[in-house]
Amino acid sequence: MFLYYTIVAFIFGTILGSFYNVVGYRLPKGESLISPSSHCTNCNHKLGPLELIPIFSFLFLGGKCKKCGQKISWFYPIFEFSTGVLFALSYIVFGPTIDFFIAITFVSTLLVVVLSDYKYMIIPDEVVIFSSIVLLIEIFIKSGLKGVGYSLLSGFISAFVMFMLKVLGDHLFKKESMGGGDIKLLFIFGLVINYPMAILSIFLGSFIGLPISIYILYKEKTNIIPFGPFLSVAALIIYFTNIDLKWILDVLTF
Ligand SMILES: [Zn+2]
Repeated sequence: MFLYYTIVAFIFGTILGSFYNVVGYRLPKGESLISPSSHCTNCNHKLGPLELIPIFSFLFLGGKCKKCGQKISWFYPIFEFSTGVLFALSYIVFGPTIDFFIAITFVSTLLVVVLSDYKYMIIPDEVVIFSSIVLLIEIFIKSGLKGVGYSLLSGFISAFVMFMLKVLGDHLFKKESMGGGDIKLLFIFGLVINYPMAILSIFLGSFIGLPISIYILYKEKTNIIPFGPFLSVAALIIYFTNIDLKWILDVLTF
């Protein structure tokens, strides 16, 4: 049964992943999420039911629009697959508990955030607010009002630390060092993983991001690199591995 539910979680994830693609692409542009329905960006051909199956449609169609033959980005199936994998992982790690729902909400938020941050350098407020409400309801179910209070406090502390780092960075580099979106992102981290872990994710994110950033700066000749994706990867590593870093907690709380 465990395997069965893991597969169900995976499939559920790929379907939602396909929807998050739409959210991440359209919401920052202020477009409706439901209309127009999914279409080819080149010829406007409306996708039929068989063209909307996550991952498989892409493979069946050979990565091309059925009508005009325009190439479809590999990004879509990879994004859907990643969502499926993260949902399955959430089930493997947490099993049939409220933590599973917290995990898939967290994962979903990060996926949408990373997508829109990467694409438009924007983290939409709607996503942050909606996710925070859902997460807080789940946290309330898990650990009551006290849990909600602690999560909120943790969220605000994490966001504040990020804000201070931004102020410091802006001062040091004499320009905007990172977007305000990262502050919102840290708030979400703080809600789910305790604030010491959220703060740790900033350092882990920088560590992961540094070599990739240097590569991008060198290759693409752009000096704007979204930090959100690296932060999110770091937070997910910390969250899923549940690294025992109690000593950091001890240091930060004296
Ligand atoms: Zn087309």
